[in-house]
Amino acid sequence: AVTRHIGGVVMQTDTMRVIRKTEAGKGLDVCEVPIPTPRPEDVLVYVEAASICGTDLHIWNWDSWSQRRIKPPLTLGHEFCGTIVAVGDKVRGARVGDYVSAESHVTCGICYHCRTGQAHMCPNTEILGVDREGAFANYVVVPEKVIWQNDREKLPPEIATLQEPFGNAVFATMYQDLSGQSVAVLGCGPIGLFTIGIIKAVGGRSIFASDIHPTRIELARRMGASHVFNAEADGDIVVDIVDANGGYGVDVVL
Ligand SMILES: [Zn+2]
Ligand SMILES: [Zn+2]
Repeated sequence: AVTRHIGGVVMQTDTMRVIRKTEAGKGLDVCEVPIPTPRPEDVLVYVEAASICGTDLHIWNWDSWSQRRIKPPLTLGHEFCGTIVAVGDKVRGARVGDYVSAESHVTCGICYHCRTGQAHMCPNTEILGVDREGAFANYVVVPEKVIWQNDREKLPPEIATLQEPFGNAVFATMYQDLSGQSVAVLGCGPIGLFTIGIIKAVGGRSIFASDIHPTRIELARRMGASHVFNAEADGDIVVDIVDANGGYGVDVVL
């Protein structure tokens, strides 16, 4: 049992609230379920913030991908941060009280891809909130090996929850050396916007961003894109980017 503060009332409880796909079909439910127990190599995290990915919208909508992949009942959510409140017997580094986020892909560690540094291709991958219980919950259990330690002084919960999609952008962006390069970022959703900031941080020369939503176009400017194009309004965007890049194509397109 854990202590929960509900509406100013402190109570001992063995259950928690979750946002869950209870059966095949569109929609989600708020349910009360047992608080999970960490296995020997797991940690139990009290979730302080969680964020919504496009994947969650697919699952809410119950599109054809979700129908093939999701096996209800399942608690959604793979972007989160929080505080560790319990650890399994074999946990080596994480401690109760640590302020953490997590890599959402739990890989097997023993297949060919895992053993050759290509764990992102592990065929046995379980994704939080997709293949195993997720973080749209008061508590979530994750293996210690996917824990990412946060500095609370630098990252409040509503930012630390973005470590997962931000890590995605860091991996994709830093896959190549971008210092001194001209880069086009096509699409300025959250990942594209993160990408603009990362390109600046690693010394990209110029950043050409495009989107069709006014809010995202404005955010792309604030993130530091050198030129931002409305892909619907500005005619031939390829011509526009080449013009803005001194008559040359860009070095990298993301
Ligand atoms: Zn996601
Ligand atoms: Zn593997």
